[in-house]
Amino acid sequence: MKLTNRSKVVSNKEQSLSERMYLPGIAKGMLITASHLFKRRATVKYPDELRPIAAVFRGQHILKRDENGAERCTACGLCAVACPAEAITMESAERKKGEEGLYREEKYAKTYEINMLRCIFCGLCEEACPKEAIFLTDRMVATEFEREDFIYGKDKLVEKVDKRIDVTKRQTIEVAEFKKIPGLKHNELWQGKLKK
Ligand code: SF4
Ligand code: SF4
Repeated sequence: MKLTNRSKVVSNKEQSLSERMYLPGIAKGMLITASHLFKRRATVKYPDELRPIAAVFRGQHILKRDENGAERCTACGLCAVACPAEAITMESAERKKGEEGLYREEKYAKTYEINMLRCIFCGLCEEACPKEAIFLTDRMVATEFEREDFIYGKDKLVEKVDKRIDVTKRQTIEVAEFKKIPGLKHNELWQGKLKK
């Protein structure tokens, strides 16, 4: 019984000498290769050349500092709970006297790690953060040879004091406007507390 029209009758015809030497196949392959010389290249010379990306592209994370240069993260763990890939781990510590300039809150992340091999760049950690500490940026995660090099610690994640990163570009106008409201807590909008 014939189930589909895709079946082909196998030919038992004896191959010619040129067919046995793969000459028609080689010629066909060469023609296909030559035709690509006149087509637009589908590849780019990454990393020297970058493809255009969307304004809301979600790339490597950054742990932001506040306007005084102190780390915003308070190690609450909400980003780790929200992460569907279980890519985030952290260890908290209590801020000591004299460290007010380093950490904004009384509790801070002593260690904070993201496993970039697990991360699916969904952005849920950014949405869950009540301190506006973690953001995804337009930077690509670099390729590495060793698996452990994909576990990014604070050395790679915390924003450098002298190299601040503007994350407003990849946020919608509504979110950017929302964040300008002084003293407004991150989640109040969702709890219906914000009066329009
Ligand atoms: S972007 Fe998504 S997967 Fe990656 S760390 Fe954040 S929540 Fe987890
Ligand atoms: S990045 Fe935000 S959500 Fe994650 S532990 Fe720090 S303060 Fe909490």
